[in-house]
Amino acid sequence: MLILSTWSFGQRANRAAWETLSPDGSSLDAVEIACRDAESDLSNHTVGKGGRPDASGQVSLDSSIMLSPAKRGAVAYVRRFEHPISIARAVMERTAHVLLAGDGAEQFALAQGFKATDLLTDEARGQWEEWRATGEMQPAHPAPIRNIEEKPPGSHDTIGVLALDSHGVLAGACSTSGMAYKLPGRVGDSPIIGHALYVDPRVGAAVATGHGELVMSVCGAFLAVEALRRGANPTDAAVEVLKRIQQTQPLTDNDQVGLIVLRPEGIWGAASLREGFKVAVKDSNRDELMAPRHVL
Ligand code: ASP
Repeated sequence: MLILSTWSFGQRANRAAWETLSPDGSSLDAVEIACRDAESDLSNHTVGKGGRPDASGQVSLDSSIMLSPAKRGAVAYVRRFEHPISIARAVMERTAHVLLAGDGAEQFALAQGFKATDLLTDEARGQWEEWRATGEMQPAHPAPIRNIEEKPPGSHDTIGVLALDSHGVLAGACSTSGMAYKLPGRVGDSPIIGHALYVDPRVGAAVATGHGELVMSVCGAFLAVEALRRGANPTDAAVEVLKRIQQTQPLTDNDQVGLIVLRPEGIWGAASLREGFKVAVKDSNRDELMAPRHVL
């Protein structure tokens, strides 16, 4: 049994999920619970309620969950529901589709019994007003976060979670409010299967966080799992994705991407473009925050 989550807020999320995962719970339930924890944490300005809005002041959330190529669900551009991860799970379990977006996703959520809520907190609104007052009304390309502990005003992050349960079942999930002050309508890598998340039960799983456009342009999580399929170890698989990003796209000094990769037998690895990425690890013996290798 093992649960791995992105960033330091992943430690709290892992603890919230552990009671379900141990001793014989389901990895699917565990990854959903971990994401729900981050989505409800109002001090987390990059996921769920309390997340930073887009340039127009509207919060929009992206999320996905996956067990296998046949069992996966996602939602994008969700503006009125606190737990997009649970709506993504409902898409997976109760529809014939992979991804629902915008108004349709919200109508589906209402029909499934999810309660609508306002996602913009006073704190996030205040920060957005400050950002607007700077006059930087460019298509938002705020400095991506390099170190969550620094919490720069224009940062972004994703809770990305991979878990392995006592039955040997792998599951993955991720949830984010995306880039702060993004252009309205922008959808990142998190709800697109194969970009921020991919799980193939026979081969392994990968989850990504960071500048979503960089990850989307190389199908990052899928590429990592394909590297495992060719025999790479998990850390090398993550590094292969980061090198592909480096080779194919111009990078700014602040661009960050982090990946966690897990094999079905529990061997895992992680890597990031730059220093600052953290992986929260919890199993029966440890509960730690680790700083993985970085390639730049
Ligand atoms: N990948 C997310 C996005 O671009 C944000 C992040 O993980 O930092 O929407």
